[in-house]
Amino acid sequence: MSMNLSALAGNQRIKEQLSLQERGRGLSHAYMISGPAGAGKHTLARLLAAAMLCTGSGEKPCGQCGPCVKTAKGLHPDVILVDGPGEGKPITVDQVRQLRAGAYIRPNEGERKVYLLERADQMNPSAQNAMLKLLEEGPPYAAFLLLAENAGGLLETVRSRCELLALGPAEATADGEAQRERRQAAQELAGALERAGELELLEAAMVLDARRGREELSALLEALEGELGARAARAAGRRRLLRAVDLVKELRSAAKLNVNGGQLSGWLCAGMFDAR
Ligand SMILES: [Zn+2]
Repeated sequence: MSMNLSALAGNQRIKEQLSLQERGRGLSHAYMISGPAGAGKHTLARLLAAAMLCTGSGEKPCGQCGPCVKTAKGLHPDVILVDGPGEGKPITVDQVRQLRAGAYIRPNEGERKVYLLERADQMNPSAQNAMLKLLEEGPPYAAFLLLAENAGGLLETVRSRCELLALGPAEATADGEAQRERRQAAQELAGALERAGELELLEAAMVLDARRGREELSALLEALEGELGARAARAAGRRRLLRAVDLVKELRSAAKLNVNGGQLSGWLCAGMFDAR
């Protein structure tokens, strides 16, 4: 069995860690999911909860079975979201005690009961100590997912009882950032190809030379081909754009054979100048 965590952006290392664990000794009963706002803490928590309750065969969570669908919609009675008593207040010691009493009531539908604890790093020491008891002595079917922006805000004793899943914002946003940058570079180069100015094209084509690595170069050429195709579909100077699309196709094959960006840039310019 392996895990299907594709709904979570980036964070390849965590995905591998969880998949290995799931195939090996199985998922743990306590995780601390840390990371800045927007890093995907809730996405990962829901995926883990669904994986624990999933009744599908094959990859977990399957995303199709009743428990998976209910968990994704926030409707599963055995996935319990715990947040502080309003106005951004953290979870209190009284709430943890109530939670503890509730945890001993068997699950409603599934094999497990999964608690998602919001902003666990902001709980005060007595709330955290009550939590610690629960992590140590809770019923075997109960699982706890502690969400935290700052893992350092949790007592070491609590942290040591949890598997740590530290989500990186960098990777996820770096992916998005790189995509935006690539799209923009493709648009600029497509514009230069469309407008037919030799100097402008020579200059714009240098972007290929500046690409580091074959993968990045291929990704840019793919974006460029898409951009040219879109322009060709609506533009007046269609012949020229179609010529550019053909050239970029050749460039993409060449890039796979390790032809470097500088050579591709020259190839693109020469091909376009010939076409006039
Ligand atoms: Zn499922």
